[in-house]
Amino acid sequence: MPYNRAQFVTSAPDISRLPADTGIEVAFAGRSNAGKSSALNTLTDQKLARTSKTPGRTQLINTFSLDEDKRLIDLPGYGFAKVPLEMKKKWQKSLGEYLQKRQSLKGIVVLMDIRHPLKDLDMDLINWAAGSDIPVLALLTKADKLKQGKRKAEVLQVRKALAELNADITVHAFSSLKGLGLKELAWQLDDWFLGP
Ligand code: GDP
Repeated sequence: MPYNRAQFVTSAPDISRLPADTGIEVAFAGRSNAGKSSALNTLTDQKLARTSKTPGRTQLINTFSLDEDKRLIDLPGYGFAKVPLEMKKKWQKSLGEYLQKRQSLKGIVVLMDIRHPLKDLDMDLINWAAGSDIPVLALLTKADKLKQGKRKAEVLQVRKALAELNADITVHAFSSLKGLGLKELAWQLDDWFLGP
């Protein structure tokens, strides 16, 4: 798929304001500062998503269309300490609703910093996805920050931990900076959007 043809459609303040629930969509999610905007920008070869100087500030859900019935969804980053508790709760509730109700959701890309993956909120999300039979691609971001040996060991460790969930979960190292894992990301998205 030509991901560089992605176009911004809308920013929704909550799940109820998303585009009509038809076709196929893939959501990107991760802790604030995990590298989600950078990954989306690298994938689409555009400055679509704003990389965050102030993590956690935008709680908007951004939608990008690939064609008439295929979308990428940029979910708000979670886990930013300074976001008020009320907002966190509200967001967790909407995220749960989104995962459970959104018919067009075909897969979730979960971005986690390779140096500290599988935090509680990441696990909540991954468990939710597994429980709702939504496939997950876990990208271990900023992989350029680790030497190759350490990077591989980290990927294996995360794979092993997630294998215990017995769900459709794939794990790859990723670096927007070096383009590492970009092909694997595109392949997985092609698989979700176009079928195997
Ligand atoms: P977001 O909050 O998840 O959207 O994260 P951003 O994409 O804004 O990235 C957060 C910070 O991590 C920024 O300072 C980026 O420059 C940095 N970053 C993102 N991706 C990479 C990467 O692949 N390698 C390195 N070294 N830094 C990255």
